[in-house]
Amino acid sequence: MLDLAIIGGGPAGLTAGLYATRGGLKNVVMFEMGMPGGQITQSSEIENYPGVFREDPPLTGMELMESWPKQCMHFGLKHEMAKVKQVKKEGDIFKVIAESGEFEAKSVIVCTGSVPKKAGFKGEDEFFGRGVSTCATCDGFFYKDKEVVVLGGGDTALEEAIYLSNICSKVYLVHRRDKFRAAPPTVERAKKKENIEFILNAHLLEVFGNAMGVEGVKIEQEGKVFELKVPGVFVFVGHNVNNEVLKQDDGSFLCEVNENGQVVVNLRMHTSIPGLFAAGDIRVDAPKQVVCAASDGAIAGMEALNYVQEKFDE
Ligand code: FAD
Ligand code: NAP
Repeated sequence: MLDLAIIGGGPAGLTAGLYATRGGLKNVVMFEMGMPGGQITQSSEIENYPGVFREDPPLTGMELMESWPKQCMHFGLKHEMAKVKQVKKEGDIFKVIAESGEFEAKSVIVCTGSVPKKAGFKGEDEFFGRGVSTCATCDGFFYKDKEVVVLGGGDTALEEAIYLSNICSKVYLVHRRDKFRAAPPTVERAKKKENIEFILNAHLLEVFGNAMGVEGVKIEQEGKVFELKVPGVFVFVGHNVNNEVLKQDDGSFLCEVNENGQVVVNLRMHTSIPGLFAAGDIRVDAPKQVVCAASDGAIAGMEALNYVQEKFDE
């Protein structure tokens, strides 16, 4: 039986694994369906993780996360590369149902993070992966010296618009308001870029194209509809939490979640179920920052260690 099962291998899950194993838990497995690192590995730049900074070129998310798995594995964390379908609790024991099999665990930390939201315009699904993208680092280069649209007004949209402006000939930043959620310095940097054009108080109605991919978009701005001929559209309109693993057979959640599906935890990352912890973007009020996810993971790792030692050790 596992002492601890960690679901998700982003900054929260990796740090939870580091603290739990280094603190003395022996049998700790991190279930991560892809390569460890989490969503920050998709980011073209990170400049607010304390103690790690490079000005030019900026540090990428991939570079930041490169050494984390190695450090965790050194202290005994094991990686099971499998998607977890469900976590259940039977008596005092958790059952982790993964695509690779079923595992019993004394405690569980859920760190499954979040995924990009869809914006809901016509053609979004049809052209996803054929001109519609949610990852500038992954797909930006396909649009070298071409024009693209970026949708959204948060930190992700503005930062990725800046990144794309260094590759593409022009970036149209389409946002439904004239105020931004993004940090003011990031907005200022974007405004200084000559090849970023802001299209504000505007709605992306449709992406159209042919069998080869996207050919353009239809935009509505203050009552007028117009088209832009672009081959690429990048959508950055926020995230939904990945809470599916907590869904039980009757549709209820294993532990308390709020109206947005975020897991309710206290300051020690305890959920409403003893032995079940949650950390990172999935939890209620998450600031959605790498440093905060790592901090949550450290707390959850230490709390899981205490829980297992107090409950199961003679
Ligand atoms: P995640 O990083 O989302 O990791 C969750 C992991 O769980 C994923 O690897 C996923 O594969 C895995 N997983 C999910 N479901 C399952 C399952 N059922 N079974 C197995 N594995 C599963 N933050 C900053 O601090 N600074 C920045 O500059 C910054 N820039 C960003 C730029 C972009 C483009 C994006 C998308 C995010 C950015 N963020 C930034 C936010 C930051 O990446 C997140 O807050 C952080 O990664 C959250 O960590 P996490 O461990 O909670 O979740
Ligand atoms: P976000 O802050 O939630 O912003 C989403 C943006 O998309 C908003 O501007 C929103 O418009 C717009 N939007 C939402 N639904 C839409 C729709 N259907 N159609 C068109 N536009 C839509 O999301 P995010 O930018 O991904 O950031 C998520 C979190 O990660 C934030 O907490 C952010 O601070 C953090 N993050 C931080 C950094 C950093 O620190 N450098 C970098 C990236 C992300 P409205 O404004 O009108 O609601």
